[in-house]
This record gives sequence, C-alpha cells and structure tokens, in this order.
Amino acid sequence: MAIARPVRALGLAAIVMWCFFIWNIFTPSAPIKKPEPFNGNMYERDPNLDPTGEPEGLLVRVSEDYAPGIKASARINATLLALVRNEELEDMLSSMKDLERTWNHKFNYPWTFFNDVPFTEEFKEKTQAVTKAECRYELIPKEHWEMPSWINKDLYEESIKVLAANDVQYADKLSYHQMCRWNSGMFYKHPALKDIQYYWRVEPKVHFFCDVDYDVFRYMQDSNKTYGFTINLYDSPATVPTLWPETLKFIAEHPEYIHENNAMDWLTDKTRRPEHNRKAGGYSTCHFWSNFEIADLRFWRSKAYEDYFNHLDRAGGFFYERWGDAPVHSVALGLFEDSSRIHWFRDIGYQHIPFFNCPNSKKCKGCVTGKLTDGESFLYKEDCRPNWFKYVGMG
Ligand code: GDP
Ligand code: MN
Repeated sequence: MAIARPVRALGLAAIVMWCFFIWNIFTPSAPIKKPEPFNGNMYERDPNLDPTGEPEGLLVRVSEDYAPGIKASARINATLLALVRNEELEDMLSSMKDLERTWNHKFNYPWTFFNDVPFTEEFKEKTQAVTKAECRYELIPKEHWEMPSWINKDLYEESIKVLAANDVQYADKLSYHQMCRWNSGMFYKHPALKDIQYYWRVEPKVHFFCDVDYDVFRYMQDSNKTYGFTINLYDSPATVPTLWPETLKFIAEHPEYIHENNAMDWLTDKTRRPEHNRKAGGYSTCHFWSNFEIADLRFWRSKAYEDYFNHLDRAGGFFYERWGDAPVHSVALGLFEDSSRIHWFRDIGYQHIPFFNCPNSKKCKGCVTGKLTDGESFLYKEDCRPNWFKYVGMG
C-alpha cells in the first residue's frame, strides 16, 4: 500500500523530533559552572578572612586628654584632611559621620577642608555640626591649582582626545587633572598644614565600618610608619603610559634617592598582569588607593619627593596624560621609602565605591568580611594586594 508523500514527510519529521527529544533527555547536561571563588580565582586566600585585631606595638587609648578643645591635649600635630566641593556637602557629611562614629569622637582630631573656591556658610555650619573637633576651611591658592605655564594648551587639547579615545575616565575634565596634580605635589605646601605632620585623607561618600580604639596618628609616630593604606589596586595603563619611563629618567639622574629596602619588585611585577606592565612601560600599575591615606607629611616634603614631583610636573603628564596622585604617591613610596615603614591598616574597615577593605572582626558592622567589591566580578582582578603581601608583607 502506497503512503501519500505528505504523510511520509510528516512521519519522518516525527521520528527526527522524537530522536532529538530522547537525545536531549539522555545526554549529560553541560557541567554547571562552579561559582568563582573569592577574588576571581586569581589569588590566595584573602587575609581579610582571617581574624583581625589591632596592630602590634604601643597603642595609645582614649583618655580625657583627648577631650575636644583642651590646650595641652594628647593629640599630636595631625589632621583629618578633605579636598571637597561645596556640592558634595551631603556626601562629605556621610563620610564624616562614619569616621566620627568609629574613631574621631574618641580622639577629636581637627578636620581641615580644602577647596579651590570658598566654602559656603552652609558647608561650614553643617560640617562643624557633626563633630566636636575643630573644623578649618581653607582656600587653595590659585598658583597651586591652575594649569602651570609650561603646559602647551594645544598639545593638551590634542592629548585629551587621545585619552578619551582610549577610554580614560575624566580625560576631558580639566579639574580632574588639576585635582590629581594638587594631591600629588601641592596639598602639603598649603600654609594651613605648615605645623602639621600627619594627615588622614577622607573623601566624600566613603564609609568606615569598624571601631578603632587607639590613636591612629600616635600609632604612625610610635611605630615609625610613613604611610598607611587599606586598598591596593591596578591602574588603567592608559592613564600613565609615560609615568614609569619618566621615573626611570629621574632615577638615572638621582640613584642616591632609591632606598635600599625599596618595593621595586612590587612596582615592576609583570607576572600577574603582564599586559598592564607592558602598556605602562614597565610599571605594574599597582598603587595604594589614595582616597584613603594616613601619612607623614615629611615624606612629601623630602628633597627626594620634591625633586621627583618637579620632574614629573615639568614632563607634563598630569595634563597630557592623566597621571593620578595614587600612582605618583605609590611609585615614590615604592622607590624612596623603606618599605617596612608602609603599613596595611587591615583593621580599618573602609569603602570607596566600588572597593572595600572589610576585616574579620567583631568591631566591624555594615560590610561583608573579605568581600573586595560589590560591583561586577571582573573587578576582582583589579586587586593588587597579593603582590604587596608577596613582595613586602603585611606589616
Ligand atoms: P574619583 O574618586 O577618582 O572618582 O574622584 P573624585 O571625584 O572623588 O575626586 C577626588 C577628590 O577630589 C574628592 O574628595 C573630590 O571631592 C575632590 N575634587 C575633585 N575635583 C575637585 C574640584 O574641582 N574641586 C574641589 N574642591 N574638589 C575636587
Ligand atoms: Mn572619590
């Protein structure tokens, strides 16, 4: 008996579909992808997961000698320091409240605010209202902020087009270049800091999560530390293509500035991210994330740093490229300072979007222990702390 052609075709289609169905049921499904381990599979165990206490050494605790406004207080010459715009008032208040709650209400160190335009009365009133400590409001002198005379405007205009084409964030924002230069080589020259030795830099919209019960500035002094950081990251090489080549020129002229216990290996590592090293001319791009820094101003005022900054400033990379104060500070510290004088404040819980330092401690609230970022998982590869720990340690 002949079967009509359409019926044959239909039968064939049914058989094919049946086979496909059976195949789908019995073939093993694709293996479920394991979730990425902490730190994007790249690193050793995050040391923030380990129980974290206070640093070793002599710690000075709160006492009535830290009461606000008293003359012979236990405070040393130090200040909390913020460069901030009037428009960032609310975000500044939020940073202040966090730091006052976790630390400064005990020690009452003064706040010093800097701005390239005068602070408004509202800014002054509202910031002073969230602290018992003294607040100082300082205007940045024009000669510290403006683009220096030797920068060629046409070359600057051309350069920022190239930077923008290379996806450099804020490339075409002149004030961002000015801010980076000021934070690199100007802030410590402000007359308001003349008698100050230590500062803790605070930005608007950052968070502090952990109670800190010792005088952090005294810790810096008593432990002979120059610089304290929380987060250590890779930078975008497109922001600093000639920073390292310029640095090499400088140290060829001044080999005497290199400290014998430097962190050159950390600065030049190319094992973890060889492309970054290549694009940045031999610099790993690793840097201390300088929106948080606790430091001794004498380092920036040293002849080595001053000569280095002037060399960089003349080279023009704050404008023709977008050198950040973080890589500039970090390269200088890595070359000219004894690396044992650089301290990881693992116990200070901190966030500046999108990264955290969140230790494992009962003193911390509001962050997830050991979680580096709440952003996209690709951000984990920006973490350079493992290199610092490998080459220098966790001191
Ligand atoms: P980011 O952290 O690199 O994204 O840069 P921010 O926008 O946070 O700027 C870094 C710091 O410099 C913050 O404390 C800002 O408030 C401050 N800042 C940046 N540009 C200016 C500016 O033009 N004037 C003033 N007064 N502060 C600025
Ligand atoms: Mn910021």
